[in-house]
Amino acid sequence: MFDVISAMLKIRLPRSLFDRMISHCRSEYPHEACGLLSGGEGVAGRIYEMPNAESSPVSYLVDPGAQFRAMKEMRENGERMVAIYHSHPQSRPYPSQKDISLAFYSDAVYIIVGLGGDAPADVRGYTILDGRVGEAGIEILP
Ligand SMILES: [Zn+2]
Repeated sequence: MFDVISAMLKIRLPRSLFDRMISHCRSEYPHEACGLLSGGEGVAGRIYEMPNAESSPVSYLVDPGAQFRAMKEMRENGERMVAIYHSHPQSRPYPSQKDISLAFYSDAVYIIVGLGGDAPADVRGYTILDGRVGEAGIEILP
């Protein structure tokens, strides 16, 4: 019998890439930042900082043209998109109703970086499938 719990999605990313993701999110403050992580087998190896086409403090839309080019480059590198990240400059790092309804990649981890002022970033991972949100693990590699 297929066990859903043991199939929990998990993403591993090197510390350097994690730090770059956080600094990208801080640099877009007070707007939401967004980007993609590529790699394979649950390990991220490359970061693509994407423009937020909505330039908003409460929502994001990965610029479609930039995403198309990034995903083409991933394929050319033999990689796939393993995670999509964005920041929540003010609210807690949990998917908004809009985040949920616009989540189309069931095999990617949705990472949300909560930026609470000067506090350390609160980074959480989720899977979003058919409007249902599950937790995904994030492991930082040295
Ligand atoms: Zn969001």
